[in-house]
Amino acid sequence: MKLDTILAQGGSRFDKQTGAVNTPIYQTSTYQHPSIGKNYGYDYSRSGNPTRLSLEQTIALAEGGAQGYAFSSGMAAVASLFMTLRPGDHVVCGDDIYGGTFRFFNKYVAECQIAIDYVDSTNLHAIEKAVNENTKMLFIETPSNPMMKLTDIKAVGKIANKNKILFVVDNTFMSPYLQRPLEMGADIVLHSGSKYLGGHNDVIAGLIVTKTDELGEKIYFYLNGAGSILAPMESWLLLRGMKTLGVRMNRAEQNAQALAEWLKLHPQVVKVFYPGLEEHPQHQLAKKQQKGFGAMLSFRVKDAKMVPAILHRLKVFIFAESLGGVESLMTYPLTQTHSDVPPDVREKLGITDTLLRVSVGIEDIGDLKADLEQALQPLTGDDYALRDDDLTYR
Ligand code: PLP
Repeated sequence: MKLDTILAQGGSRFDKQTGAVNTPIYQTSTYQHPSIGKNYGYDYSRSGNPTRLSLEQTIALAEGGAQGYAFSSGMAAVASLFMTLRPGDHVVCGDDIYGGTFRFFNKYVAECQIAIDYVDSTNLHAIEKAVNENTKMLFIETPSNPMMKLTDIKAVGKIANKNKILFVVDNTFMSPYLQRPLEMGADIVLHSGSKYLGGHNDVIAGLIVTKTDELGEKIYFYLNGAGSILAPMESWLLLRGMKTLGVRMNRAEQNAQALAEWLKLHPQVVKVFYPGLEEHPQHQLAKKQQKGFGAMLSFRVKDAKMVPAILHRLKVFIFAESLGGVESLMTYPLTQTHSDVPPDVREKLGITDTLLRVSVGIEDIGDLKADLEQALQPLTGDDYALRDDDLTYR
């Protein structure tokens, strides 16, 4: 079956008892046992729940993996993944990743005596150089967050394979609709389901899909053992969101491409970071390993003084963290998603006070352009006063 069909019918035909077209929300914590040592397939909802299972089977199919698991958030999925590591282990990680992941790695990983090296994962040589005999995991996001740098998944997969290292790709920005890392050499795909998979900014969730059953069992041990499971209601919301992933993704991408082209010609904009632009340094790689260019972009304005005014003026875009929903959001990585990244690292990566990140939604493109046009107007006297708000207003 093709992906659109898998997604549209995710959870259908699951409930054999009633024939419900959508998997019901099995809002139960526990299950009756018919006799000692027997059950009806479930015994306790931390260990397994039909609604969650339906979601897990759907995401495993969508990513082309052996097993899928659903967590209470993307970070819970990241944390469970890291529970598979032990003191003395070493991790090579892309340097441009979600700030929350960076925060968790820096504190937890250091305290657990797990060494971590951050490398520019666009540079294969740098990855190979960072690998040592203790390296157990290679962790990347592609496109990266927020600089939209791409990593060659196939090439990194070869490095991981040669050195027998677990290769993990956070596929949140693309979703399985646009990129399928397991087919290109990854061992594990991770998602913040709170983004494109949910798609409506109404659920926090995390997902992991493994290439093999053996890896799946390992992940399940920590899901069940540590207990950061996704609840039945959230599992159902995610299943429902995933049904429309393809149409949402296509529409959002169309809008993103149009906005990127428009923004790059705007006099207040210095640079646009979007893999769909021909001048993006990895435009060709994007064409090769992605089915589309996605709907995330970042842009740099001429003057940092513009930023408070832009965010304050928005009427269609919403000044908010997160991404991947039907509503267009604008984020200021410096004070929001990447505030916990040390200033020198941010500076090196280009996450400066002039950078804004946009998650393009599915609204009317004319409305989106008009909103940015009015938000990017030159500053007036009133706007200068906004600087005192230090961007905490909303
Ligand atoms: N990975 C990426 C790429 C993200 O953008 C995020 C959150 O923004 C996460 C992981 C963490 O996911 P969650 O917020 O669902 O915990």
